[in-house]
Amino acid sequence: MNILLIGIQGCGKGTQAKILEEKFGWKHITTGNLLRESIENQTELGLAAKKFMDEGELVPDKYVFQIVEDALTNAKDGTILDGFPRNMEQLKYLEKNFTIDKVVLLELSDEKALERVSSRRNCVDCKKDYNLLYNKPKVEGICDVCGGKIVQRDDDHEEAIKKRIEKFYEDTAEVISYFSEQGKLIRVNADAPINKIQDNIVKALEVSDLKK
Ligand SMILES: [Zn+2]
Repeated sequence: MNILLIGIQGCGKGTQAKILEEKFGWKHITTGNLLRESIENQTELGLAAKKFMDEGELVPDKYVFQIVEDALTNAKDGTILDGFPRNMEQLKYLEKNFTIDKVVLLELSDEKALERVSSRRNCVDCKKDYNLLYNKPKVEGICDVCGGKIVQRDDDHEEAIKKRIEKFYEDTAEVISYFSEQGKLIRVNADAPINKIQDNIVKALEVSDLKK
């Protein structure tokens, strides 16, 4: 089964994708991870993409598409696409050679998303992630693991988060209605405990009897 997880920042799709990957053996695919992998493995595409990233530029779609396509070809047991495709252009490209069976929209209010994302912190040294709402360091401002300083990322401030949320709706509104018309869209409330969200996703996908 190939599914797409979609939702605004802070909806927890990365966490849900990881659990689904472990449970069913579907490959969790994010463009960020794929780019990182192909750079680490020094593939031709990875090296080409790195040039743009080193200059602080966005990697052009054609490289991203190629990297995604290679990953999909290698994932025979199913995939969890995480945040890609996020607009109609990417979707049309993907659907030439690939079928998305179900789309899970993790729904969270803008207020909740703001609260969660603006509570994120991470260690300047070891990069460990924290969240002041549910994963606080033992000592305020100090990393549990390495004693480093804990800071907020520049782009996790309210204005920047709001802008990203707006952009998400702009980009994905069409994608969401496209899948809704096809009867592939599943809406899941993301304002719930992690295991409850997971149960609801699995139930909605009707895969509870699947063993990997
Ligand atoms: Zn640390």
